[in-house]
Amino acid sequence: MTLPGTTRPAMTPDQIADALRRGLEPSRLHVNEPLAPFTTFRIGGPADVRFDATSADELAAAVSMARALDVPWFVLGLGANVLIGDRGVRGLVIRNRAQSHHIRKDGLLWSESGAIVQDLVLETVRLGWSGLEHYIGIPSTVGGALWQNLHFLSPAPERERTMFIAEPFISCEILDEDGARREVGPDYVQFGYDESVFHHHRDVVLSAQFQLDRRDPADLHRILQENLSWRGSRHPWLAVHPSAGSIFKKIEGVGAGRLIDQCGLKGFRVGDAQISHIHANILVNLGAATAADVRALIAHAQQAVVERFGHHLEPEIGFIGEF
Ligand SMILES: Cc1cc2nc3c(=O)[nH]c(=O)nc-3n(C[C@H](O)[C@H](O)[C@H](O)COP(=O)(O)OP(=O)(O)OC[C@H]3O[C@@H](n4cnc5c(N)ncnc54)[C@H](O)[C@@H]3O)c2cc1C
Repeated sequence: MTLPGTTRPAMTPDQIADALRRGLEPSRLHVNEPLAPFTTFRIGGPADVRFDATSADELAAAVSMARALDVPWFVLGLGANVLIGDRGVRGLVIRNRAQSHHIRKDGLLWSESGAIVQDLVLETVRLGWSGLEHYIGIPSTVGGALWQNLHFLSPAPERERTMFIAEPFISCEILDEDGARREVGPDYVQFGYDESVFHHHRDVVLSAQFQLDRRDPADLHRILQENLSWRGSRHPWLAVHPSAGSIFKKIEGVGAGRLIDQCGLKGFRVGDAQISHIHANILVNLGAATAADVRALIAHAQQAVVERFGHHLEPEIGFIGEF
């Protein structure tokens, strides 16, 4: 399978940027700049061209122009579920910073797809609206959340099931593969576990609507605090140890992290990439890790687990660009 961001455009980066300047804000076009600062792993080489879209209209315009120019394109949210190659991404990377949003009196939240879920959580909780509080502490834009069907455990003390962003989801506006803007609902999006139609169609989510319910803010704050404490004691802290969250897909009833742990790999390093001491399914960047380090560490964990337990660990994160 060809990785996104590896197809070489016919034009040079400067030619692409010149062509895009005719329709996009020039000050937000960047040529050959590293993507590492725009990922939670803090890893990744340069994008030929990067455009920072600040509204849904700009996001749609950037994708439409890239399509018209036959330039490969990729939409980047918070970069929390991707590993970008050391040699960077060919074509256009559109960094989605479209963050307008509003909440109606009946609890319908409309948000552009670049809004940061954590910001929406804090704002909705402050106003006494329930539905997003479960996702506190998870780095994601709204677009990335729909792409992956963002999920976390239901509130303490039960924690009896996984909750999904699909639950409050009502609809989203997409720019579809044919260039049309249209509103689609859950039937179209086909949410699954770590899954949605966006893994298979080259649609772009421009905005989304969620139905929230009234709840006592004190209750919501309790859930925020419990979820943050739960995460804080089980996951490496992103501000200290950059990562992309869980690296391997869940293995039902077994747990990818448990298998890696049972191979004695917690703390194992390749260069500056390390299997976290506190969660074996999370690889952390100790400072100067490269994408090559991370890939070698992934391969090492996969080999150890297949040899010892016969399970093949499948990466959950997206590999983008040239490695
Ligand atoms: C510390 C940490 C903890 C995490 N914990 C959890 C957790 O508890 N639960 C969980 O579910 N996930 C978790 N994750 C994974 C991650 O937060 C989610 O996958 C998140 O939804 C990624 O969003 P993003 O905006 O960063 O997307 P990105 O990583 O930027 O992109 C991911 C994919 O989505 C696509 N995409 C992004 N925006 C759009 C759009 N507007 N339209 C179409 N496609 C788009 C991209 O092209 C890419 O293919 C964690 C990650 C980290 C780093």
